[in-house]
Amino acid sequence: MIPEIEKASQAEIKQFQEQKLRKLVAYVYANSPYYKRLFANLNLSPESIQTLEDLQRIPVTTKDDLQKYNEDFLCVPKQKIIDYVTTSGTLGEPVVIGLTDADLDRLAYNEAISFACSGVTKDDTIQLMTTMDRRFMAGMAYFLGARKLGAGIIRVGSGVPELQWDSILKFQPTYLITVPSFLLKLITYAEAHNIDINKTSVKAAICIGEPIRNQDFTLNALSEKIKSKWDIKLYSTYASTEMSTAFNECEAHRGGHHHPELIITEILNDENKPVVTGEVGELTVTTLGIEGMPLVRFKTGDMVKANTEPCSCERNTLRLGPVVGRKKQMIKYKGTTLYPPAMLNVLQQFETVETFVIEIFTNDLGTDEILLKIAAENPSEKLIQDIKDHFRAKLRVTPQLVFEEAEVIEILRKSKTGRKMQIIIDRRKKSFNK
Ligand SMILES: [Zn+2]
Repeated sequence: MIPEIEKASQAEIKQFQEQKLRKLVAYVYANSPYYKRLFANLNLSPESIQTLEDLQRIPVTTKDDLQKYNEDFLCVPKQKIIDYVTTSGTLGEPVVIGLTDADLDRLAYNEAISFACSGVTKDDTIQLMTTMDRRFMAGMAYFLGARKLGAGIIRVGSGVPELQWDSILKFQPTYLITVPSFLLKLITYAEAHNIDINKTSVKAAICIGEPIRNQDFTLNALSEKIKSKWDIKLYSTYASTEMSTAFNECEAHRGGHHHPELIITEILNDENKPVVTGEVGELTVTTLGIEGMPLVRFKTGDMVKANTEPCSCERNTLRLGPVVGRKKQMIKYKGTTLYPPAMLNVLQQFETVETFVIEIFTNDLGTDEILLKIAAENPSEKLIQDIKDHFRAKLRVTPQLVFEEAEVIEILRKSKTGRKMQIIIDRRKKSFNK
């Protein structure tokens, strides 16, 4: 099930997207108070935007804009909204995204083709290990996508290894949708309860929220640890509420495929100009086919690299590499640019590290400082030295390191929304991005 446009040539894809872009610009100009004002203030006519290159004449939309003028992005009367979703904003209050009936259909289509990209067929059964409520979009998207594809779905929700295993053994799912680190908990539970994990029905996991690969697409420390115990395929998926679109890995496992019928992608530098292909920049998206709250040149805050060489799966679309990090979490440390996921990757290589948090703060000199708080079964000077050596080898720098009690770290990690654990605590003076 590969949409025809995804097998088309780059030139055909561009032409196709430009047609969709013209429609979108006319639509937001007519229906979104925010974009109407933006165009009017610049004396920009919607007709002047014809090509993907023309997009650069429209200013980017930031998370702050979306938060500040939230209601002005809505293109339909309130009565047309079916589903209300919120996503964490940058200025405190959550941002509301309203989805119409047509938007839910689009979301279902998006997830169905994304699942298909990761090998899911109508003969598969998926166990959903993420929440469907709490005003959360992802769980709903997975359910709708599975239904559209004709695949079975078991809505177990997050956590509770016992219930997950009960479901796996009872319903025989072939795919799991989960945060990859939770797979380690499932493995631990299975080992303690004599479940032979490699003899179950599970053949693959679609991994959300955490990277499972390095930039060269080799397995990172986390997924290596999983694969060493549980021989299943791991597919990465990358998505966000504002995009209402997913980028899933195919069988080649070389980045998440772009769906040109759903979204236009740009990868921009600090001046909002496209980076040279293959360089890391901020993913900026223009959503296509959205009725309720379409976005034009929305800066996602995620730093990524595009891969444009042909893929073995027949799809001709660009692929996004693993997210390098959040732009706001970029750390300038001793002359090196660092993102927290790279540090996570180093720490995950240590079996004896029970839990940890990464604190980033501004030191007396006004520059970034990193403090790793670690809980270990047997804290020792040697462990500190080993971790520091690993940091030096992989990232060329060594942060400060202290041991803490596991309970203290667990309290630090509990986030406000209850959706995910907080591993990075950013206390830097300029950034209030929590
Ligand atoms: Zn592919």
